[in-house]
Amino acid sequence: MTQPKYKRVVLKLSGEALAGEGGFGIHPPTIKKICDEIKEVHGLGIEIAIVVGGGNIWRGQVGSEMGMERAQADYMGMLATVMNALALQDCLENIDVPTRVQTSIEMRQIAEPYIRRKAVRHLEKGRVVIFAGGTGNPYFSTDTTAALRAAEIEADVIMMAKNNVDGVYSADPKLDTNAVKFDELTHLDLISKGLRVMDTTASSLSMDNDIPLVVFNLNQSGNIKRVAMGEVIGTTVRGKKYE
Ligand code: UDP
Repeated sequence: MTQPKYKRVVLKLSGEALAGEGGFGIHPPTIKKICDEIKEVHGLGIEIAIVVGGGNIWRGQVGSEMGMERAQADYMGMLATVMNALALQDCLENIDVPTRVQTSIEMRQIAEPYIRRKAVRHLEKGRVVIFAGGTGNPYFSTDTTAALRAAEIEADVIMMAKNNVDGVYSADPKLDTNAVKFDELTHLDLISKGLRVMDTTASSLSMDNDIPLVVFNLNQSGNIKRVAMGEVIGTTVRGKKYE
């Protein structure tokens, strides 16, 4: 049997990924599909950390555009990610995948606080670790959280799951028929070409720490495993490892 390419991965799931067709809120059947795939990858012996977003419930920027104080609105966004993390945990545990949720803002009654060394220990013991609460700081995103946690736990790759987009394009393929897909890029390309895969804070952090990124379509079933096995799909953004 071919061996998986990666030993430890960070899977970035946006809030939107958990929302299903409606695009809003939490849709358990949609989450179940993702969790079934995660279970398969977990079964290959790959250590999986998940960073989950919150945009299906609340985005700080939207609140601020409606007149709220930005930091306040961002804290609400961080809380939204905790709801998503608990939904993921519920689903994974239901299919016998052991998990731990760690939050960057303490809420001990429902999850562990984020402790890097403990997270690594959980991974080594075969538990899927779900990072909730983003970085714990307003003005950041969960993409930046993915880059930060990937660096901290020395993940081999960030698997950036996208909804119905199969990689990075020169323009939005839904709006521009001339948009071309990139198979490979560098982090610097993302920043200099203004490709909106992740925000520039997340890109520069990934670049500085040489963390490779694979951008792929979550909506095609089996893709999480394909990426984990090293099949070339989507767009690879190169880091030092696995060049
Ligand atoms: N957020 C934040 N700091 C962080 C991570 C997230 O303030 O470190 C807030 C921010 O308001 C953001 C919201 O949480 O809009 C939801 O996160 P994000 O937009 O990254 O979720 P996604 O787009 O992945 O669903």
